[in-house]
Amino acid sequence: MRINSIYLATEGEGVWIGTVQIFVRFNGCGIGCDNCDSSYTWSFNGGLEMSLLEVLAEIDKVGHNGLIRRVSITGGDPLNCKNIDAALALAQSLKEKNYYLNIEASGDRVAHDLFTLADFISIDYKTPSSGVTTPLNVLTQMIDQFSGKFQVKSVIENIQDFNYVKNAYAEIKKDQGGSHFAWVLTPSYNTNETFPKERFKNILNWNESHGGFFRVVGQQHKWVYGPKKTNV
Ligand code: SF4
Repeated sequence: MRINSIYLATEGEGVWIGTVQIFVRFNGCGIGCDNCDSSYTWSFNGGLEMSLLEVLAEIDKVGHNGLIRRVSITGGDPLNCKNIDAALALAQSLKEKNYYLNIEASGDRVAHDLFTLADFISIDYKTPSSGVTTPLNVLTQMIDQFSGKFQVKSVIENIQDFNYVKNAYAEIKKDQGGSHFAWVLTPSYNTNETFPKERFKNILNWNESHGGFFRVVGQQHKWVYGPKKTNV
């Protein structure tokens, strides 16, 4: 498997913010979001070629010899067809070893076998500022098949992004009769910016004045370490 990095850190965003886990970051992504903060992972030839046993040994090592029992498989795009078999093999091994398993998914599709193994799935719903579109039926499939063990995350840059997710939420509510998951809005914090306080306040206000359907959670690792620092 092509691995960018394996490291111990505290989750900096989403509903598990503040939780210590081991991140296994795959190399390779063909999606190309305009606002990607990890474009260094895009190459399918980058990173290190590692065997399953080497990855498991490194997870054990960085997790203080097995003390940390949570792993997040992330990327890059671990669901890409070039990565999915390796991600599935890793997930199976981790579940056999009783790790809590989190999957970070780009939202372009539902990977049924992998998601069934996972304890929790974080799936993106891309916004216009990313230049990428997430099919709405990905979210309806998640509600049908994985209710109770996933969150949706959307990066919000501006009011267009907010209105886009608000309309998507309304569509889903119309079809499903309500939401059964946390939909997290992540205020964008671009690598060339200082802390985007005004954007953050705007998003809090938009959510409060439009029904409060979302949870607004910032990226605390970027506040603490700066927006350019990786593996934190
Ligand atoms: S899916 Fe993730 S890694 Fe790939 S381009 Fe988008 S944000 Fe970056």
